[in-house]
This record gives sequence, C-alpha cells and structure tokens, in this order.
Amino acid sequence: MSIEISENYSLRPYNTFGIDVQARFFTRAYSHSDLNEAIAFAKSKNLEILVLGGGSNVLFTQDQNKVVVLNRLMGKQVEQENENNYFVGVGAGENWHEFVQTAIHNNWAGIENLSLIPGCVGAGPMQNIGAYGVELSDVLHSVEALNIHTNENHVFSLNECELGYRESIFKRKEKGNWIITKVNFELLKRPRFKVEYGAIQNELEKMNVDILSIEAVSQAVCQIRSSKLPDPKVLGNAGSFFKNPTITIAQYDQLKQIDEHVPFYPVSDLEVKVPAGYLIEKCGWKGKQIGSCGVHHLQALVLVNHGNAKGIELKNLSEEIIQSVHEKYAIKLEREVNLY
Ligand code: FAD
Ligand code: NAP
Repeated sequence: MSIEISENYSLRPYNTFGIDVQARFFTRAYSHSDLNEAIAFAKSKNLEILVLGGGSNVLFTQDQNKVVVLNRLMGKQVEQENENNYFVGVGAGENWHEFVQTAIHNNWAGIENLSLIPGCVGAGPMQNIGAYGVELSDVLHSVEALNIHTNENHVFSLNECELGYRESIFKRKEKGNWIITKVNFELLKRPRFKVEYGAIQNELEKMNVDILSIEAVSQAVCQIRSSKLPDPKVLGNAGSFFKNPTITIAQYDQLKQIDEHVPFYPVSDLEVKVPAGYLIEKCGWKGKQIGSCGVHHLQALVLVNHGNAKGIELKNLSEEIIQSVHEKYAIKLEREVNLY
C-alpha cells in the first residue's frame, strides 16, 4: 500500500469552521491509484468514505467513523480549443481561486465573477458554485468521477450533472457514491462580462476602470468579498449557511403583507428569490453570539465559530434561526452547508 493512513486524526485544520472532531482514518490521495487504494481500505474496514477538498462547505457535528480522503488530484491544462473556446481540464484537488487566477493570467474568460471562493475545484459541481450572477453551470463542460462502490470511471455530461441553484446530482440522488476526479471547463476566448450585480458596478467605478477586463472584474469581486465576508483563517465559517429561498409570486405577495420591504430577485415569470440574509437579520439574529457560536455582524447568512464551538451547537443555532424565520415569515430556510 502506498498511501499513508492515519488513525484517530483531528479534522480541525481540514474544515473552515475549525470544528475539532476526529476521523477514524485519514489519508491524502494524489492519484487515481491512491483513490482506489483508499476505497479498498475502506471496504476492508467496512467503513464509508468521506471526500474533502478544502472543507469550506461542511459542518462536522460528530467524530467521523469513516475513512476521510483529502482529494489532492492536481493538474490544469488546455486540452482542446476552437474559434470561441478553450476546453480546460482541471484536477479536482486544485485550489479553486488559484485556478481562477490561472484563467485570468491566460485570458480564459468566464469564471472571473467566481473569484475568491474557497475550496477545491472538485467540490465546484457539488453545489454548482455561484456568485455575482455567474454559476459553474455557465462554463462547465463535464465532470469525471470514480464510483466508490464499483470503481467505475464515468464522465458526467453537463446535463447529467443535474445542476440547479446550489444543487447537483452529486449533492442529491448520488450523494456519497462518487469521487469527482477532474472537472472539464469550456472557457471563452472573448469575455462576456456580467457586471449587472450592483456591487460590481460600484466597485469598478471606485477603481476608475475605463476598459473592462476579466482582471478588473476579478479584482472588483475580490475587493467586495474581502470587505464583507469573514476570512475563515481569522473567524471560522463556511460561507452562506442557508440557501436563498425561491418562492412563487403568490407567496411573495403574501410575504409583502408581513413586510413590504422584503427584497426580491426574479428567477422566472412565476418565481422570485428572496435574500435569506435579510429575513434572518429582520428576526434579530445579525451579530448575535451564543457561547462560541454566532451570526456574522455584516452578513446574517454566515454562521461563525468564535472559538471552540461544537458542530452540534452551530447546528442547534441554525435550527433556532430556521424556526424564527418560519414563525415570522412562513418561509422554511434550507441549509446550504453539508452536515456530517
Ligand atoms: P468541501 O467542504 O471539502 O466539501 C463540500 C462537499 O463536497 C462535501 O459533501 C464533500 O464530501 C464533497 N466533495 C468535496 N470534494 C469532492 C470530490 N472531489 N468528489 C466528491 N465530493 C466531493 N460557495 C459558493 O457557491 N459561492 C460562494 O460565493 C461561496 N463563498 C464562500 C465564502 C466563504 C468565506 C466560505 C467559507 C465558503 C464559501 N462558499 C461559497 C462555500 C464553499 O467555498 C464552496 O461550496 C466550495 O466549492 C467548497 O469547496 P471545498 O473543496 O471546500 O468542499
Ligand atoms: P449580496 O450582494 O448582499 O446579496 C444578497 C443576496 O441577494 C445574494 O445572496 C444574491 O443571491 C441576491 N442578489 C443580490 N443582488 C442580486 C442580483 N442583482 N441578481 C440576483 N440576485 C441578487 O450577497 P453577498 O452575501 O455579499 O454575496 C455576494 C455573492 O457571493 C452572491 O452571489 C452570493 O451567492 C455569493 N456568496 C456565496 C456564499 C456561499 O457560501 N454560497 C458565500 C458568500 C458569497 P445569490 O446568492 O443567488 O447570488
């Protein structure tokens, strides 16, 4: 066996909430063969596998009686190109933001709005990462994955991934069945800028940008994010803890009876998206601290660990928030973060 396996290993450095739980077994995989070894080891112990990238979208509520595998499959290269696109293949263990920077450096357009999202490339398809009006689905070509139960390798086409708002087949029907090994992107030779998001426009103006470039958009996004979002290295968090609820226009009309100022963003002719952060703030949670758990003082969608919070305490806080938003607004918030 060439992989190194540690027993009863602290996961504190491997999740951005900084929750101190132990993995029964822990290993790092740098290749397909490492992954196959980890799978065989887990089978021999009759344990499940849990794959982690950067641990920036998980909340551990207990010790993990599993084989935790840190995916570190690397590599990024242009595999094909045509008149309009570069087809770029990226190992699942690559750091997402470093890949965005590589893209900007090489003039591969399409992911500049997704700058500074923590974590690894392989987790991107899990929840169809999105920010500032762009989602992974806008640039995804296909996803290569290894089946944990059958060792089959499969290439999921964009359609097969069943991507939605913070959703995918990997987060739903096929949860826990596949290890994503490589993500294939279809990036643009000529940028199609998406700067309608108010904050980006304002930031570009502040930066005195005359000629728009993917680099300028990325810088604007990084600037906004750094000023609003807590850095997990300083304050444990996993970004937005809840999804923004999508409701029907009829439901929105009822919501307006309760609070005429609730913002909304059209999703289709029949549905709108409501910012969960607004609802949570209006229920009085913004900036609150209970023991070591808290709600961020600038963005109520983000739960934080002020020190030694336990995962279960953060989960309990999230349940209180869900209940109070439901009582005030009759909307049931859903968690975005993956609980283990
Ligand atoms: P992990 O937390 O390691 O894993 C998340 C889930 O994916 C787990 O269920 C895990 O088992 C699974 N997984 C990970 N890798 C693989 C793999 N190779 N194969 C199969 N399953 C796998 N998200 C957004 O969408 N938009 C944002 O703007 C955004 N901003 C954030 C800002 C902050 C400050 C933080 C802390 C988080 C933010 N997030 C955002 C959430 C998070 O960064 C993303 O969801 C990211 O893609 C998670 O990557 P990760 O490698 O850390 O995943
Ligand atoms: P924000 O700009 O304060 O806006 C609050 C919410 O309203 C956002 O979540 C966004 O939904 C929605 N919204 C705002 N302007 C919109 C527009 N013009 N069109 C459509 N929807 C709009 O949000 P923020 O917290 O600072 O985050 C900025 C962006 O980064 C968002 O896209 C957000 O999703 C992303 N982000 C995600 C995470 C995460 O962990 N998932 C963490 C931090 C930031 P959407 O979220 O659907 O865009």
